[in-house]
Amino acid sequence: MARHHVVVIGSGFGGLFTAKALKRSDVDVTLISRTTHHLFQPLLYQVATGILSQGEIAPPTREILAKQKNVRVILGTIDTIDLASQTVTSHIGGRITNTKYDSLVVAAGAGQSYFGNDHFSEFAPGMKSIDDALELRGRIFGAFELAELAETEDEINRQLTFVVVGAGPTGVEMAGQIAELAQRVLRHDFRAINTREARVLLVDAAPQVLPPFGSKLGEVTKKSLEKHGVEVVLGAMVTELDERGVTLAFKDGTTQRVESACKVWAAGVQANALTRTLSDQSGAPLDRAGRIGVNPDLTLPGYPEVFVIGDMMALDNLPGVAQVAIQGGKYAAAAIDGRVKGKAPGKAFKYFDKGSMATISRFSAVVLVKQIKISGFIAWLMWLALHLVYLTGFKNRVTALGHWLVSFLGRGRAERAVTEQQVYARRAIQRIEGGTKSLASSPEEWNKVRMELEEQAAEQARLTDQQKRGVSASA
Ligand SMILES: Cc1cc2nc3c(=O)[nH]c(=O)nc-3n(C[C@H](O)[C@H](O)[C@H](O)COP(=O)(O)OP(=O)(O)OC[C@H]3O[C@@H](n4cnc5c(N)ncnc54)[C@H](O)[C@@H]3O)c2cc1C
Repeated sequence: MARHHVVVIGSGFGGLFTAKALKRSDVDVTLISRTTHHLFQPLLYQVATGILSQGEIAPPTREILAKQKNVRVILGTIDTIDLASQTVTSHIGGRITNTKYDSLVVAAGAGQSYFGNDHFSEFAPGMKSIDDALELRGRIFGAFELAELAETEDEINRQLTFVVVGAGPTGVEMAGQIAELAQRVLRHDFRAINTREARVLLVDAAPQVLPPFGSKLGEVTKKSLEKHGVEVVLGAMVTELDERGVTLAFKDGTTQRVESACKVWAAGVQANALTRTLSDQSGAPLDRAGRIGVNPDLTLPGYPEVFVIGDMMALDNLPGVAQVAIQGGKYAAAAIDGRVKGKAPGKAFKYFDKGSMATISRFSAVVLVKQIKISGFIAWLMWLALHLVYLTGFKNRVTALGHWLVSFLGRGRAERAVTEQQVYARRAIQRIEGGTKSLASSPEEWNKVRMELEEQAAEQARLTDQQKRGVSASA
C-alpha cells in the first residue's frame, strides 16, 4: 500500500522545517518550491550591500535534504491547489506537473506590497528574493559609479541620494548599510566624487522607527541611525515614485520632492496569492495583508488535511517572522505524524516568542526579548551569534564569518560584483508578454521538434539506402 503522501509548498522557513520534522515519520514527502534554494531572508540586505554572497544565505534545498530519504524535492511554481481532488499543479518553463496529496502544508510566504501603487516597483525593488537583493546591489553600487561620471552638481546629488522606504527592520538595516558604504567603505575608491556627501533618507509614514520594538528602542535606533549619517524622515507618505525621485506628503498637507536615482522599497507585505485560491474554495477569510484565517491547529477551515503556515496565515495577530513559520512547520509535521499513527489530535498551536532583533550598522543593534531591551554593541554581538547559529550549513557559517570579519573589522566588501543584467533583467522580463514562461519551450514544442528531426533522419537514411544521393530528381 502506498504510504501517506505529504506535499509541502515552499522551501522557506516553514516548508523546510516541515519537511525536516517529518524525517522519522512513516510518510513520503514531496517538497515543491519555485526556487532551488532555501532563503535566509533576514540577511538579504547584506547581499544587497556587498557583504555576503547569495550562496551563503541561499543553500540548495536539495543538498540540505539529500540525506533524508523520504523527501523528494521538485522545482516548480504552484499555480493551482484543487482542494476537492487533493491535487496541486505546478509549472516550470512550459512543463506542467500535477501532484496528488493526502496532507498538504502550504508555506509559500509573502511578497512586497506597494499599497496599491504597484508601478512604484519599476524603480524601487523590494527585498524579498535573491533577485531583489542582486538588483539592489547593482543599483546601489551603480549609483556611485554614475555619480563619478556625472557632469552637473544636480546629477551628482541625484545619484548620491538614496531613499529607503519603510522604517521596519529591513529598512533600518538597509539605510544603515548604505550609509556605511558611503561614509566608510567607498570613501577612498572614487576620484571625482566625495562619497561621504551622499544622503541616505529613511522614510516612513509612521511616527517612529521599528514600531514593533516599542517607543524606547525606536528612539535609540533613530538616534543611532542619525549618528551614522542617515536622515530619518517620519510621518511622510510616498505619493509619487518615478525614475528620477520620490514625492513625500506630510500630515500638515505639505509635500516635498526628493531627487533620487536609487530607491529601496522595504515597506508593506502581501501574503502569497495562493491564499486567494484557498479562500475562494474554502470560504476562509483573508485579512488586509491577504493572509488567510486558519483554525487554532493551523488547518484550513473545512479541510483538516490542509495546513497553512508562516507568512500566509492569519492567527491571533501573530507576526510575519521566521520563528512563527519554523514553529508552525514543526507543529504541522507533528500533527500529520500523529494522524498517521492514529493518535488523538494534540493541543492548539502555541507560539513561543524568542524575541526580535535588528542591526543598525556595524557594532550596533537593538534586541527585544520579552520586556528586556538591549541596544548597542552587546545587542550586536547577540545578533552575530544568533545569525551564525541559524545560518544553514557549516560551510556557509564559516564563509559568512570570514566575510563579516572583512567587512566589520576592516573596510572591505567581498561581494561587490555587479552586472548590467542584475539591474535591468527584471524590468525586461516584465515587458515580455507571458513572462519567462514564453522564453522556455514546452514538452509539446520539444515533441514537434523531435518529430521534425526524426522525419529528417528517416529521409537521410532513405536517400542513402536507395542510393539516391547525387541523382537528379528529374533523371
Ligand atoms: C528582508 C527580510 C528580512 C527579514 N528579517 C527577519 C528577521 O530578522 N527575523 C525574523 O524572524 N524574520 C525576518 N523576516 C521574516 C521571515 O523571513 C519570514 O517571516 C519567513 O521567511 C516566513 O517563512 P515562510 O516559510 O512563511 O515563507 P518564506 O520563507 O518566504 O518561504 C516561501 C517559500 O515559498 C516559495 N514559493 C512562493 N510562492 C510559490 C509558489 N507559487 N509555488 C511554489 N513555491 C512558492 C518561495 O520560493 C519560498 O521558498 C524577514 C523577511 C524579509 C523579507
